[in-house]
Parts: sequence; structure tokens; C-alpha cells
Amino acid sequence: MMKIEHLGIAVKELTTSIPVFEQLLNTPCYKTEIVESEGVSTAFFKTGDSKIELLEATNEHSPIAKYVVKKGEGIHHIAFEVENIEAEMKRLAALGFELLNETPKNGADNKLVCFLHPKTTNGVLIELCQEKP
Ligand code: ZN
Repeated sequence: MMKIEHLGIAVKELTTSIPVFEQLLNTPCYKTEIVESEGVSTAFFKTGDSKIELLEATNEHSPIAKYVVKKGEGIHHIAFEVENIEAEMKRLAALGFELLNETPKNGADNKLVCFLHPKTTNGVLIELCQEKP
């Protein structure tokens, strides 16, 4: 894995959280994007080489809605950038990590992504992401 690409933070409302993170990081939100298949609306901030991704649920069945109800707002996942997502998925599956999707899917910010179930990663939801060519 190349680096931490971003940290995902679950929030109740982007409209209130975006200004908070703009002040905190002293940098403007450079992109917002809805990922309909995941039921999330996202907002991105650059922090040096990495990013912060805020996630708001777009409907009550969204994994983010469930997360916020169960655990409240907070760090939701860590995303690692990989060079070849399919090779990395194969490598991790062979080691016994549980992949939440069998093939890479479209994520926000022009990425192919795959999530690993937190039960095989010490309670941390892990995202693999590869920049789309
Ligand atoms: Zn993410």
C-alpha cells in the first residue's frame, strides 16, 4: 500500500461540518460529490499529501446513516492508495481478510474502491482505492 489516501469521517450534515473543517484545516473544501450507489454525499479537503473525506447519508438505509445512529459522528474508515487494486484484493483475500465487494467498485473522487470488513481488521473499516486511469 502506497500511503493513507484519506480518512473518512461520518457526519450528520455536510452543511454544518464543511465550514468546521475549512476552519480547522485552513483550506477550502475542493470538491463535493454524491455517490448514489453508496447512499452518501461526500466533501473533500486536501491535507498535504492526504485528504479528509466527510460523509453524509443521503437516505436512511445508507451505511453512513446506520453508523451515525449506532456510533455517532466520527472517524468511519481509513483509505489506503494502492497501485493495482485487483492484485491487492487477491493478496488480502488469500490472507483471510474479508472483502466487502468482490470486484472493485466506483467510489468518490475518481477512484476504484474496495472495503474490508472491520471484523478482520481490528474493528477498523479499511478502504483500498486506486486512481482511475
Ligand atoms: Zn473513503
